[in-house]
Amino acid sequence: MSFEDLKLNPAIIKAILDAGYTTPTPIQKQAIPELLSGHDIMASAQTGTGKTAAFMLPALHLLASPSKTQGRGPRVLVLTPTRELALQVSEAAKKYGKYLPRTKVISILGGMPYPLQNKLLSQPVDILVATPGRLIDHIQRGRIDFKRLEMLVLDEADRMLDMGFIDDVEMIAAATPATRQTLLFSATLDGAIDKVAAKLLKSPKRIQVASQKARLDNIEQRLHYVDDMSHKNRLLNHVLRDEALKQAIVFTATKRDADTLADNLYSQGYAAAALHGDMNQRERTRTLTKLRSGGLRVLVATDVAARGIDIADITHVINFDLPKFAEDYVHRIGRTGRAGATGVAVSFASNRDSAHLMKIERYTGQRIASHIIPGLEPRIKPRVQDGGFRGTPSVTQKRKRSPLANGSRHDFSTASDTAGNKNGHRGRSFSHDNRTSSFRNGNSSSPGNHFARTK
Ligand code: AMP
Repeated sequence: MSFEDLKLNPAIIKAILDAGYTTPTPIQKQAIPELLSGHDIMASAQTGTGKTAAFMLPALHLLASPSKTQGRGPRVLVLTPTRELALQVSEAAKKYGKYLPRTKVISILGGMPYPLQNKLLSQPVDILVATPGRLIDHIQRGRIDFKRLEMLVLDEADRMLDMGFIDDVEMIAAATPATRQTLLFSATLDGAIDKVAAKLLKSPKRIQVASQKARLDNIEQRLHYVDDMSHKNRLLNHVLRDEALKQAIVFTATKRDADTLADNLYSQGYAAAALHGDMNQRERTRTLTKLRSGGLRVLVATDVAARGIDIADITHVINFDLPKFAEDYVHRIGRTGRAGATGVAVSFASNRDSAHLMKIERYTGQRIASHIIPGLEPRIKPRVQDGGFRGTPSVTQKRKRSPLANGSRHDFSTASDTAGNKNGHRGRSFSHDNRTSSFRNGNSSSPGNHFARTK
């Protein structure tokens, strides 16, 4: 199937060809015909699958015909959880709509000055991309006329739910015409998302693309055990000195850690900077522009800030701290291996992270092979081969409640076991270390620790 077969307006096809796309991605093949025929859809698709074009191309197709309703307000509204994602969606709208006469795109984001936004909203607009909180402010001040609204897109709806935006989203939807077409995109379509869809969508078509596992197949996942902060920093330094590393995102658990680590790396001579939610919009945009133009080699970020970043030269993602939720692991490592490229995802873990790691592996259905760098060997050897990976957690594991175990919304029971990674690292056995392997007590039936040595 080609883009021409999708019967999109020729001006849109021209812009797609300019962008270098030759064939639609699976989400585009499935979603675009449904959308052009007017259906609501709910689709499970993450960034990296081409989902932005999957909704933006039909949105632009709709804009190619004049509105039947008089007014100046938006005809398409896209809600996103973060400012970064909103800016990417706006850029995509401009890129794909560049040959269409009616495509005024504006973004209304938190952290930006109100006077400028008031001015933007007083002019005619076709596509409005917004984060929910700030949009609500403007709606309540009567600054937005939704009379012309024909399409509402909820991008990364699962994240908006997690971030507590869902009431805002429902209020915004209630301010738009009931005749609108509604699209919901989410990493997973679970019970909570179904509830949102039941309230906001009309007989939606469900679209499911590529499994979690297939999406990660072009990313080599590596694990390094760390003894302490100094060991972690030395390992990071080793990874960053890899010549194959063009650009990297290093994830930390907190905003403060992101700042501290970025400062440390900068003082060691790396072109490094931090990105997190405490920075104002101008600083965040400046940092992302620098990353995009190659002026930065290392971005040290927190989860929310880095979500949706789509930069082809990011060859490495480094989990300096493991994410709290398994799904964030998938979002993080998906920042590399973009648009068909391969990528490397390195995670640092201490012996206290074993349960956490298992949750991640169950979620992705993939085992993360442990690597040892000669000269930087960990003193601890906590890894238990597939402990609990296949079955129900032992009593000890159940009692040992990690934040992940407490908070994750996901049922991990359906993930399959793919022990060993795609590179065939099956590991080398080491004997147990009684001093450090407290976690081992919960898995006494496991055969032993397995590490893979880095070539
Ligand atoms: P998204 O999932 O929307 O974040 O898109 C991921 C990346 O894929 C972006 O860099 C897009 O420019 C690119 N992309 C989207 N659709 C296509 C396509 N049909 N062919 C090639 N690249 C695409």
